[in-house]
Amino acid sequence: MTNLYLEEQGEGQLEKEFGTRTNETHKYKRVSDLDMYQRVAKTTAIYPREQAIIYPTLGLTGEAGEVANKVKKLIRDGYENNKDYREALSKEIGDCLWYISILADDIGFKLSDIANANLDKLLDRANRGKLSGSGDNR
Ligand SMILES: [Mg+2]
Repeated sequence: MTNLYLEEQGEGQLEKEFGTRTNETHKYKRVSDLDMYQRVAKTTAIYPREQAIIYPTLGLTGEAGEVANKVKKLIRDGYENNKDYREALSKEIGDCLWYISILADDIGFKLSDIANANLDKLLDRANRGKLSGSGDNR
């Protein structure tokens, strides 16, 4: 398997941009924006290049399923019997974020550009009174 970031950027680039690697397991200083997250996350992306787009899409749907399963168990067992549900859900959301980040990279988009385009779309809908309803292009 190939580490796509290291293959494209060369080892040491993240240290220059985001700070010092703290140990051999690729821990970096806390990320503070989406693009920084995306670039660091990419260092952990190990899958065949010919499976770009497909691999993170399958992973994203799997992780979204894990979110749904944990929420399902809240319904079945009740919140009182799942005291750590917020922590558990936050970890699954993080897994989703990783796959979203990697998928965005596979199609050549910065995560911040996707986030801003999404906010622009939603704020435009809000300004036109079209937040409710359905359809991608309302
Ligand atoms: Mg998970």
